[in-house]
Amino acid sequence: MARIAFIGLGNMGGPMAANLVKAGHQVTGFDLAAPVLQAAQAHGVTAASHISQAVLDAEIVVTMLPQGKHVLSAWTDILRSIPTGTLVIDSSTIDVDSARQAHEMASNAGCLSLDAPVSGGTGGAAAGTLTFMAGGSDEAFAKAKPILEAMGKKIVHCGENGAGQAAKICNNMILGISMIGVCEAFALGEKLGLSHQALFDVASTSSGQCWSISTYCPVPGPVPTSPANNGYKPGFAAALMLKDLRLSQEAALSTGASTPLGAEASQLYALFEKQGNGGRDFSAIIEMLRGKPE
Ligand code: NAD
Repeated sequence: MARIAFIGLGNMGGPMAANLVKAGHQVTGFDLAAPVLQAAQAHGVTAASHISQAVLDAEIVVTMLPQGKHVLSAWTDILRSIPTGTLVIDSSTIDVDSARQAHEMASNAGCLSLDAPVSGGTGGAAAGTLTFMAGGSDEAFAKAKPILEAMGKKIVHCGENGAGQAAKICNNMILGISMIGVCEAFALGEKLGLSHQALFDVASTSSGQCWSISTYCPVPGPVPTSPANNGYKPGFAAALMLKDLRLSQEAALSTGASTPLGAEASQLYALFEKQGNGGRDFSAIIEMLRGKPE
């Protein structure tokens, strides 16, 4: 069993750290917010009063923070306090450039590093069924894998430094675009007098099939577990979808990739968030696409 430091114990990090404890690891945690640190203690995490104290004896450090700037600032503190050879894993969703910068900082400090963002949301974090997409050396991946397996059910090594973040934003760009496509189809079907169930029965078994319709149908009824049946309570909040679409557009700009539908999806989610919907599930965008009720 390993000594693990976990930095960032919020909606995702809290349950992920709790699963590491359940798997028998010795976990020391730190978060700037006292309430989440206390909540983690209730799950067997030892609370540290400072980030450097949390990582002092750690063999492996995991960060789960909001954005690239938070990760770079935390990694600066972490790398100052750990011996060479320690593995540092970042599971936050951040821009590819910051992820690569974090790897370089770790390499300069003689440490192993992995970018390993996740998919599966807070439900997957609690159930220990996350998918991890990892970027980094074979050595870092081999050392991280048994630790990640305590928090997830699928662990994919996507390539070198930054490849995990690249896979994450490409996947979520598909998701944002496909959700808008499915919502437009249901809104059009409604105008044409087509029942939700009829469109679902056809499209979920035909060439329109995708996760946004089969697993996460944006209208109530056909998939009873989708957020549409629960007042669009997230699930996956529209604000987080907007964040990931913006990361995809930053990456498209810096690489010169052409992603016109990704750009459009990003604009639509920005508008949806401006209308006060950032905290609702991202599939609720169907309401904006329907326009005002007649
Ligand atoms: P969150 O806001 O609930 O948690 C982030 C935590 O980091 C907060 O508790 C905050 O106090 C803490 N923090 C910030 N700066 C810190 C620092 N310097 N030192 C220590 N703690 C610090 O966010 P979350 O929902 O847990 O998401 C974390 C990351 O995971 C994000 O990058 C998000 O995009 C990604 N993600 C979230 C989901 C989801 O469904 N919530 C799904 C996949 C990926």
